[in-house]
Amino acid sequence: MGTEHETCPDCRALVSDLAAHQAWHSRLVADLANAVEKEILRTSATSG
Ligand SMILES: [Zn+2]
Repeated sequence: MGTEHETCPDCRALVSDLAAHQAWHSRLVADLANAVEKEILRTSATSG
């Protein structure tokens, strides 16, 4: 066993840099939240 990989607790991915991977996770979530918020604003603007 010479590999130094860790398993991500969130998505079970095998990663060599868990900290960087989790930073990527939070960025992904933030991007998703932004997109959803924009969509909600757009929908409420057209329906109102
Ligand atoms: Zn992950």
